[in-house]
Amino acid sequence: MCTGRVELEMVLRAFLNGADGVFIGGCRLSECNYTTQGNYDARNMVLLCKKIMSYAGLNPDRLRIEFMTSGDGILFAEIMNDFGRQVKVAGPLGAGEGIAMDELKSRLIEIIRLVPYIKIKSNEKLGMRPETQEEYERLFTDEDVDRLFGEIESYYIDPEKCQSCGICARKCPVEAISGAKKSLYIIDQDRCIKCGTCLESCPPRFSAVNKQLSRLFG
Ligand code: SF4
Ligand code: SF4
Repeated sequence: MCTGRVELEMVLRAFLNGADGVFIGGCRLSECNYTTQGNYDARNMVLLCKKIMSYAGLNPDRLRIEFMTSGDGILFAEIMNDFGRQVKVAGPLGAGEGIAMDELKSRLIEIIRLVPYIKIKSNEKLGMRPETQEEYERLFTDEDVDRLFGEIESYYIDPEKCQSCGICARKCPVEAISGAKKSLYIIDQDRCIKCGTCLESCPPRFSAVNKQLSRLFG
């Protein structure tokens, strides 16, 4: 499939399932046969994913993306051999990082739960087409990811202020808000993708939705 369809969640899930390394091979940049240029999307996603891996304590060398054509058989073999060596140096997942597998898995599960939020927050940059290596490396920095995970938004409905009008529940894109007339409206935090629509849609005269910020792994 097109590398543009390789989702951030798929890569994180591969590591959650115990993969020591993930390799993504795509068509050469600017040589997309269609108009989607999905390989740029994949390249940006990989950079973001590497920064997220570093934040979580995983060795980012476990993830690699390369671009080539179907005629690049020798190049492909060389790259795969090199990646194999790279993963061997990184060591078995978890052991190589000095992190117990249970701890590593719980970190990955927390991050996977935040993927929709990460995509909402990074959407603009994920769609960019950096031309130079320098521009590409500046797209997502360690500081960007530290900021992203240092101020994770969560939304709560204040039962003292909520008038049970149901507007937020009707506008929530993932049906994370439950309630009924004359009863409490509640946000299911496991289902919420932190889009902020409920905060924006609650009538100002009620202002019943609160936003709280917290740090991942904090
Ligand atoms: S933040 Fe978005 S997903 Fe979460 S409850 Fe509000 S509207 Fe629904
Ligand atoms: S929109 Fe505001 S007042 Fe209406 S149900 Fe939601 S939180 Fe309550």
